[in-house]
Amino acid sequence: MTNKIGWNLDNSYTRLPQIFYTSLTPEPVEFPKLAILNERLAETLGLDAEALKGEGGVSVFAGNQIPEGASPLSQAYAGHQFGHFNMLGDGRAILLGEQITPEGERFDIQLKGPGSTPYSRGGDGRAALGPMLREYIISEAMHALGIPTTRSLAVATTGEAVIRETHLPGAVLTRIAASHLRVGTFQFAAAYGKPEELRALADYAIKRHYPDIEGDENPYLSLLREVVKRQASLIAKWQLVGFIHGVMNTDNMTISGETIDYGPCAFMNEYDPATVFSSIDTQGRYSYGNQPGIGGWNLSRFAESLLVLIDDDQEKAVELAQDVITGYPKLYTQNWLSGMRAKLGLFNEDSEDEALIQELLDLMQKQRADYTNTFRSLTLGKTEGEDLFSTPEFAKWNDKWQDRLGRQEQSKEDSQELMRNNNPSVIPRNHRVEEALAAAVERADYTVTEKLLSALSKPYAYLAEQEEYCALPVPSGVPYRTYCGT
Ligand code: AMP
Ligand code: MG
Repeated sequence: MTNKIGWNLDNSYTRLPQIFYTSLTPEPVEFPKLAILNERLAETLGLDAEALKGEGGVSVFAGNQIPEGASPLSQAYAGHQFGHFNMLGDGRAILLGEQITPEGERFDIQLKGPGSTPYSRGGDGRAALGPMLREYIISEAMHALGIPTTRSLAVATTGEAVIRETHLPGAVLTRIAASHLRVGTFQFAAAYGKPEELRALADYAIKRHYPDIEGDENPYLSLLREVVKRQASLIAKWQLVGFIHGVMNTDNMTISGETIDYGPCAFMNEYDPATVFSSIDTQGRYSYGNQPGIGGWNLSRFAESLLVLIDDDQEKAVELAQDVITGYPKLYTQNWLSGMRAKLGLFNEDSEDEALIQELLDLMQKQRADYTNTFRSLTLGKTEGEDLFSTPEFAKWNDKWQDRLGRQEQSKEDSQELMRNNNPSVIPRNHRVEEALAAAVERADYTVTEKLLSALSKPYAYLAEQEEYCALPVPSGVPYRTYCGT
């Protein structure tokens, strides 16, 4: 059979020790149908978008056919969920293999929602169309915002219902990732594997994501350092755009530094560090303001899982790991500060910058100002549309900011350009996402989603036709709630 689609799969994960996965095939579904395809992403993967739209593509996206060269498997992992350690694993995901792109890059091709696996723990292994389309929209928006993330190649509907509180249309998402290695994969190895299995996993992660450290004196300590660096940068990027992940369990934190698992995530409207959308996060563990700290907590769990590799002398290993972990808050703050300076059009550094930024955030919180639109207005030089802008406190702050802008060589135009490149005008606003999902789920109408995706694909373009996506929802009095999407 000729491979018109262009699959070029390798299966390096199957070469890891057996405890890390279970080979299996997806359960076929009744009426597979393509709901949405990411044609541009397909092309960068070396896949023929036209061919993918045909039966050969759709049957792979629904799990009815295995592409040439695939060795499907579900991955084993553990993780701290809301602080409690559990054995988990891909309960509703199957890795088909790793696509090697024409550029020689390697990406996991994973089906999310293809039926039960040995790790399903009583769940059905299935997913509903709404949440899969939601992951598609938000992950693609994140990518366009310049934030490392898993991507979405396609959603296929199954023609079968999934039973939650009601019957919902079933779907499978095809997810693309640098890899699906998680902090929880290492926790699994440390808790249930032999030291040589943990070492095999660490060597694999280094080879795949951090080849430069392979020859280091202590590559496992370097691995910890590199992951800490990537996560510090990633979480700072979330904070800068107001993204709330919602379920920062250690199994949802990648080794590659990509955002993963778009469940109850959402973007913040009014600036408030206590913002939480997830219905199950009753304590606010994963609130906007807690994300950087939780990142550090998760990284400590990663460090613990590496201790036996870092040094034979465990006291020394703890000391070395501790050193890296204590550096995280500073690294995070550096990333966040430099991002915030860019959001305010600042090129150089001044010791007062942090105070200036904090003062603005405090005023935004007090005036319940919309996070994205406040920065958008500052970028456009049009301080209108928010109560904040007519307060005397803001006028005072604005004077200070203008003074500060004057203390750098760059022109006002340069500052404005820097601000435009760092303050998105369009984010996936919750009400617009819901509207797109409702059209798809209730009427099989994907045009609303396509139009939203198009606006989200250029978040820094400030185009007139995108303006409708900047508008806030009509106040409903009911707080927006998100669900884990199982
Ligand atoms: P998540 O909240 O998506 O990160 O999932 C947490 C854990 O629950 C992972 O081990 C998932 O594989 C598993 N899980 C989520 N939904 C289902 C489902 N419908 N069936 C089986 N396992 C699931
Ligand atoms: Mg997960």
